[in-house]
Amino acid sequence: MKAFQLVSPGKTELRDVDVPEPGPGQVLLKVTGSGVCHSDLHLLHAQQLPFPMTLGHEPAGQIVALGPQVNGWATGQHAICYIVWGCGVCRRCATGAENACERFPRGLVPGPGLGYPGAMAEYMLAPARSLVPLGDLDPVDSAPLADAGLTPYHAIDRSRELLTPTSTAVVIGVGGLGHLAVQILRAITESTVIAVDLDQEKLTAARGHGADHAVLSGPEAVPEILELTHGRGADVVLDFVGVTPTLSVGAGVVSSYGHLTVLGLGGGSVDFSASGPPQGLPWGATVSRPYGGTRRDLHEVLSLAQRGLIKVQVERHPLAAADDVLARLERGEVRGRAVLVP
Ligand code: NAD
Ligand code: ZN
Ligand code: ZN
Repeated sequence: MKAFQLVSPGKTELRDVDVPEPGPGQVLLKVTGSGVCHSDLHLLHAQQLPFPMTLGHEPAGQIVALGPQVNGWATGQHAICYIVWGCGVCRRCATGAENACERFPRGLVPGPGLGYPGAMAEYMLAPARSLVPLGDLDPVDSAPLADAGLTPYHAIDRSRELLTPTSTAVVIGVGGLGHLAVQILRAITESTVIAVDLDQEKLTAARGHGADHAVLSGPEAVPEILELTHGRGADVVLDFVGVTPTLSVGAGVVSSYGHLTVLGLGGGSVDFSASGPPQGLPWGATVSRPYGGTRRDLHEVLSLAQRGLIKVQVERHPLAAADDVLARLERGEVRGRAVLVP
């Protein structure tokens, strides 16, 4: 079968590899769609990975073979795959929060395309316990829900008590994850939603996805957002970029005792000095960096999609175009989420 592999830092190849055999507790998926995440670009430049590694951590597929000891699944079923494969036995994994697995507090948390062979291939192995049935959802277009849906859902759910009707949520970076964050905020909270991006087209799309306001990114975003919130600032800021300039906007607009939630892996830093740029963090602010979501969160995300409350904006591409798609993503040209179809 064809598999799109990272063979050394910065070097990819579409290779012929053997179709794997499912072991105990595993199923073999025929991949129907594999979302392309900005994290794949970070992986592309990573130095220490189990090379060669098949990329792809937004998998949807059809079950074509069952390994021994798999119950409750049948061949022919369509499923999406939970992508955080924790140790399965620690306190966090015991509750389905494999994203908080105690064995992987930092660095690469294992999953398909994240240490294990991923979904940018014709077939992929998955532990049966990580599957969630797709129901009537499109087997190609729903693939990004595995990460671009899961991760914002988890971040928003953690701040739910702050997201009351009088509250404001700011979403910085309305790309793959951010355009779904806007929709999830709309679907599960009464918050006013402000989208922030460098790209005017993405801002226009975010308005279409339900954002109340759209603000161009940069230092001027701070006074603009403070004015929109009558000086109170935003109860929750979700930063899907994570570079110092966006973190500084986040610190400048988050309200006192608000949440500055950093999802983007841009490697920036937050200034804790009292007068950091432009205004510094207010009293009581919580800064966090959540990872992915829980197994339960994935069920909730699929339910929102199945009821038409959220919808991934998808551009489809053949697996053979993976290199081009990654280059387009790097240049900021992808609208919504790109999905590779093997
Ligand atoms: P994307 O490329 O699809 O979207 C990024 C968006 O940010 C684009 O719309 C771009 O125009 C915008 N942007 C870039 N620089 C900006 C700036 N200075 N100000 C405002 N907007 C800016 O990326 P994605 O796939 O949505 O991923 C977003 C980030 O989240 C990446 O860093 C990715 O690695 C990370 N991520 C983290 C987790 C997690 O669990 N923490 C999970 C998935 C992805
Ligand atoms: Zn990702
Ligand atoms: Zn664990």
